Amino acid sequence: MARLVMKFGGTSVADIDRIRNVARHVKREVDAGHEVAVIVSAMAGKTNELVAWAREAAPLHDAREYDAVVASGEQVTAGLLAIILEGMGVNARSWQGWQLPILTSDAHGAARIEDVNGEELVRRFRERKEVAVIAGFQGVHKTTGRITTLGRGGSDTSAVAIAAAIHADRCDIYTDVDGVYTTDPRVEPRARRLDKIAFEEMLEMASLGAKVMQVRSIELGMVHNVRIFVRSSFDRPEDIDPMSNHPPGTLICDESEIMEQQVVTGIAFSKDEAQISIRHVPDKPGVAAAIFGPLAEANINVDMIVQNISADGSTTDLTFTVPSVDYERANVVLKKSKEQIGYASLDGSTDVAKVSVIGIGMRSHAGVAAQAFKALAEQKINIRAITTSEIKFSLLIDAVRTDSAVRTLHTLYGLDK
Ligand code: ASP
Ligand code: MG
Repeated sequence: MARLVMKFGGTSVADIDRIRNVARHVKREVDAGHEVAVIVSAMAGKTNELVAWAREAAPLHDAREYDAVVASGEQVTAGLLAIILEGMGVNARSWQGWQLPILTSDAHGAARIEDVNGEELVRRFRERKEVAVIAGFQGVHKTTGRITTLGRGGSDTSAVAIAAAIHADRCDIYTDVDGVYTTDPRVEPRARRLDKIAFEEMLEMASLGAKVMQVRSIELGMVHNVRIFVRSSFDRPEDIDPMSNHPPGTLICDESEIMEQQVVTGIAFSKDEAQISIRHVPDKPGVAAAIFGPLAEANINVDMIVQNISADGSTTDLTFTVPSVDYERANVVLKKSKEQIGYASLDGSTDVAKVSVIGIGMRSHAGVAAQAFKALAEQKINIRAITTSEIKFSLLIDAVRTDSAVRTLHTLYGLDK
């Protein structure tokens, strides 16, 4: 017998038929003798609709009331799933975040989970064989008692937090893809589903644009060592053997669980980048602070930074990237600080993309990035900027060359099917 968390996203609960399908997945695990907590998202599109309603009511509104509105989507699916399970003869009860409770910070709209009480759930597993159906995405602030939400995609984080609280053996994320791929299969059809990926690698993949799970949920999984299994909710429930150790999907786990570590695990990319170059900046202490301080104050995330050592000892050029949505704002901020920074001119481009190569094997292998430079040069793909860290390197290139760069690197590192 195992204790499982099963999380179902919006497309998996998009209508009553699909919720029935979810219930059959749950029943399969219960019949196999497992203890089950289910976490559900709102029906597909519901949260968008609720957010739009809040905005229509008033463009600027109290974040506490935003949460009161948008948390309702998950309340509906939790109740519906409990009803359907009961109808199938499975003991089930729905839970709102405040009922457990799931305690959070008071950052309404983007709250962080601080504590989850899973005791009652565990007692009911034991005494009544009762399935807990929990509304994802929502919690309650620990002192005001007001409903909070965890940010878009937050039910992944609910699921992992609950798995940690009840010491689940595994946290199954049922979604509309059947696992985590070496890269986006829409760009490279030869992308493969990974059997396993380490938390740190998944964190990089998710931060860099692989939209399988909320980034925060992976951080939590890593901290509490929750084994997360990404799998498809569209497989027919009766085709799956609940005792099998190898259902199709990807396990996100500690690197010690991964026997055959490849050097490179995946290629991520993001076209939502913009490049800014500042020309002829004085090469002296305090200049970086004068540039990046105001950007930080404006809440603009700076990612890649490249600075040259000046040839003449007086001025140099500095290039960095920001999210493309912040490009205009960043320009405004920098023009305002022109005097203080003392640069000659500013230029930039939003037609750039960041391609990243990820793998914990890079820690122990030299020359991994050098191979990429050569392969991209052969394809005449120009590299504008490079950053590296222990388990990844990222290259800034022209956006139009993204697909070709991704495919080149995918083949280069032996990731093709
Ligand atoms: N329903 C919420 C959203 O759409 C939370 C989630 O689905 O994870 O963002
Ligand atoms: Mg999601």
